[in-house]
Amino acid sequence: MSNPWVWPRAAYVHIPFCAHKCGYCDFASLAGVDHLADRYLEALGREMAMMKEPAEVDTIFVGGGTPTRLDADQLHRLLEMIRRWYPLAPGGEWTVEANPGTLDERKVDVLAAGGVNRVSLGAQSFQPDLLRVLERNHAPEEVPKALDWIRPMFEHWSFDLIFGVPGSNLGLWRDDLETALALKPSHLSCYGLVYEKGTALWKQWNAGQVREVDEESERAMYAHTIERLGREGLAMYEISNFARPGHESRHNLVYWANDAYFGVGVGAARYVSGVREVNTRDLHAYLRRIEADEPATGPTETLEPEPRARETAVLMLRRTIVGLDREDFTRRTGFDLDTLAGPTIAKYVESGLLEDDGRRVRFTPDGIFLADSVLCDLV
Ligand code: SF4
Repeated sequence: MSNPWVWPRAAYVHIPFCAHKCGYCDFASLAGVDHLADRYLEALGREMAMMKEPAEVDTIFVGGGTPTRLDADQLHRLLEMIRRWYPLAPGGEWTVEANPGTLDERKVDVLAAGGVNRVSLGAQSFQPDLLRVLERNHAPEEVPKALDWIRPMFEHWSFDLIFGVPGSNLGLWRDDLETALALKPSHLSCYGLVYEKGTALWKQWNAGQVREVDEESERAMYAHTIERLGREGLAMYEISNFARPGHESRHNLVYWANDAYFGVGVGAARYVSGVREVNTRDLHAYLRRIEADEPATGPTETLEPEPRARETAVLMLRRTIVGLDREDFTRRTGFDLDTLAGPTIAKYVESGLLEDDGRRVRFTPDGIFLADSVLCDLV
């Protein structure tokens, strides 16, 4: 397994184009600039070529934005470029994010023929009213329609769902989960809604135009998610992610182990040789800089060994099944977990939020609900 000090075995490629900017979205995504797509692909190719030599990887994740907003020819061009610079090792995982309403049969064929073997579909909700609150611009029936194309071509696919949307309640969330389960996913990501500062939804919330779901209801939704998906054989392997055995996202496991990864595209982060860099989020600045053969790097951070070890502990603890394995942690960071965080871990074991069998530290079922404050304390 890799670590941030060795050459990455994972690559992230960002496609910023979207049909419409959703109200809660804080990603590097833009609507109304599709005319820049060809120029952007050209720039992506140049940015990848800055590596000079291709780098074989075990996982690739093409995210956005909406990668499937590209037309079929552009998608084909993108995949060729990725295959050239980030050849996938045999047995590797290659995921592309897709949105319902942007897929068609031809695009699905292009993805499968190009080497993609996993699709992550942004469903978010099956309730038209909640999709409206989120300002998503797809209709619920477009999800099964997209799956009719995806299923025959891909063994691995996933949904994203959001709970705690204003106007939602436990009953509506149960319905959403049942609708999702009826489609037989082998992987589900279920996120609690976050009001990201500066988004349209945050402004509405700040102005009192939308009311957040109360904490108790949100907790009940999360508890129901864990219980219901568990009964269906979808185990919670990370705080927000559920999968049947063998269907976990290998690319995301790289992030949760704090391992190294490449990242290209506007707003993309990378973690190479212990240095974490983020590209500019400004599309025009990204294009200008790459076209001038300059890196598009924005903020850079080189973590000292101890903060990096603490960050690794926090990320590893998010993995609810594997947890934080002492030996693995020491191998990756060079630190002894108990010297670094022994008293904090003991405090949460005492209060019943963590369990510790001497080898691994994990969240207890109660601890999962207070994960954020425990993780903050560990940092
Ligand atoms: S589709 Fe996704 S990336 Fe695009 S605006 Fe909506 S939430 Fe953001």
